[in-house]
Amino acid sequence: MLRLIFKLNENRALTTFRTVNLPSEVRHSRGNFDLFVHEMVHVYQFEKIGSIYI
Ligand SMILES: [Zn+2]
Repeated sequence: MLRLIFKLNENRALTTFRTVNLPSEVRHSRGNFDLFVHEMVHVYQFEKIGSIYI
């Protein structure tokens, strides 16, 4: 399922509630620490305000 999503969104990371989804390739891969921190902020936002962060 994620392969299809990453294909459609051009391999951009996305966070769904408490789950950070990172593509295995290119600029949004798990080696990009700044991006990982950005996605963790979305987890924090979910904890504080709920799913409206989406
Ligand atoms: Zn974001």
